[in-house]
Amino acid sequence: MAENPDRPVRVRFAPSPTGFLHIGGARTALFNWMFAKKHNGVFILRIEDTDQKRYVEGAEQDIMDSLRWLGLEWQEGPDVGGPYGPYRQSERAGLYREWAEWLIDHGYAYRCNCTPERLNKVREAQRQQESQIGYDHHCRDLGLGPEIGEHVVRFRMPETGETVVQDIIRGPIAYQNANLQDLVLLKSDGLPTYHLANVVDDHFMAISHIMRADEWIATAPLHSQIYEAFDWEMPAIAHMPVILSPSGKGKLSKRDRAFDDGGTQVLVQVREFEDAGYLPEAVVNFLANVGWAFGDDREFFSMEEAIPRFDLAQINPAAGKLPYEKLEWLNGVYIREALSAEDLAARLKPVLINAGLTVDDARLLKVIPLIRERIKTLNDVVETAGFIFSDRITIDDPELLIQKKMDTECTVNALRSARARLETVDDFSHGVLESTFRALADDLGLKAGQLFGAMRVAVTGKAVSPPLFETMEIVGKEICLKRLQQAADILESR
Ligand code: GLU
Repeated sequence: MAENPDRPVRVRFAPSPTGFLHIGGARTALFNWMFAKKHNGVFILRIEDTDQKRYVEGAEQDIMDSLRWLGLEWQEGPDVGGPYGPYRQSERAGLYREWAEWLIDHGYAYRCNCTPERLNKVREAQRQQESQIGYDHHCRDLGLGPEIGEHVVRFRMPETGETVVQDIIRGPIAYQNANLQDLVLLKSDGLPTYHLANVVDDHFMAISHIMRADEWIATAPLHSQIYEAFDWEMPAIAHMPVILSPSGKGKLSKRDRAFDDGGTQVLVQVREFEDAGYLPEAVVNFLANVGWAFGDDREFFSMEEAIPRFDLAQINPAAGKLPYEKLEWLNGVYIREALSAEDLAARLKPVLINAGLTVDDARLLKVIPLIRERIKTLNDVVETAGFIFSDRITIDDPELLIQKKMDTECTVNALRSARARLETVDDFSHGVLESTFRALADDLGLKAGQLFGAMRVAVTGKAVSPPLFETMEIVGKEICLKRLQQAADILESR
């Protein structure tokens, strides 16, 4: 490993605010965060916002909100500050210019005032001759000074030899220098390109390890050359494997929003996962399984358990599909097994309120054991138990009230009898309710399933619901009476 054991671990997640945080970016952030935790290091958030043209309003805030929602807190960053700030590249422009000048003064870079028209012509000619596309070094030895007006600054790449970068995950990555471009370091607007800003910041922020997306691999030798020119120690580097959509056809990180992947809707932005009712614990657990494995065949684990085992060298470099069905499963496991009833209730409450329902905390807590096994996402609570939190329900299909071998008249009669019997019940506990209505079914000459089925639809509005009598106990006598009445009336007036 190209690691210097004396270097304190400092890692960074360095997103560009060109879009909302997507799930691939979140996985990169997660691995950085886990690595920092494991080594008692520092996790830094740096906003790489030097590309003004691609800047998306609101993206920076979304990135921070999404990371916090996932529980990936940073110790240094644009909002919390830190000893190596500022942490937004747009606020560090002077530094990049200073170091571009240094490179020019020491012969590692040069000014270039080739016009876009000239560069296009060069490219066109290269295409026709089928030679390598790239800058033709026109200004490389002209020794142009600042008086030339509008210009860029280019790095003077060595033309011979080989650059080898040790990737922690992939091993050595070797490039012939003759194939490397004379990169633009500073653009004509005076702002740096990714290459210069990234290297300068990683150096001055004392970054020990770079973990970044696979798409940057080709820039590793270029960056290595810049480090060498400055005579700075390059951080150890690891490129995260590509994440593919579930069908394996798309590269997920390139997509900004949810999309249709062979007939299924695939979520991409972290925000979309939150909106869909996934738990942040389940999402990070899910992401930790993409490219890394906990071991012992375990896919469900907490971050506390995973962090001590986390090892960059074990990451699988092969592109991996995002198995959404695993997320569904994990989310269900967290809901069923990992959260306390109070915690789950606290997370379900805003979902119910957003659906326009009125939530009583004590009642919600009683509902938890009835629905835990039945919901996979937080949002499922509205469908599964929304009826408990609303005075009125609508029975979508009154036909559902009529059970097998029953007709309208017989059902109306059963519902009215149930209502009358309910009025006589003082001890409104599910045990008493059950025996009361079993006896009623007998009296009416119905099977218990027939009576209970009709009552279930009357009380919950649905043919499938949590256990009937436990549910009735929570819904309360007044409302159950009203709903039995309402259901009978609806059927009768059809
Ligand atoms: N700004 C780059 C990005 O958004 C950062 C890459 C890196 O981590 O060096 O992908």
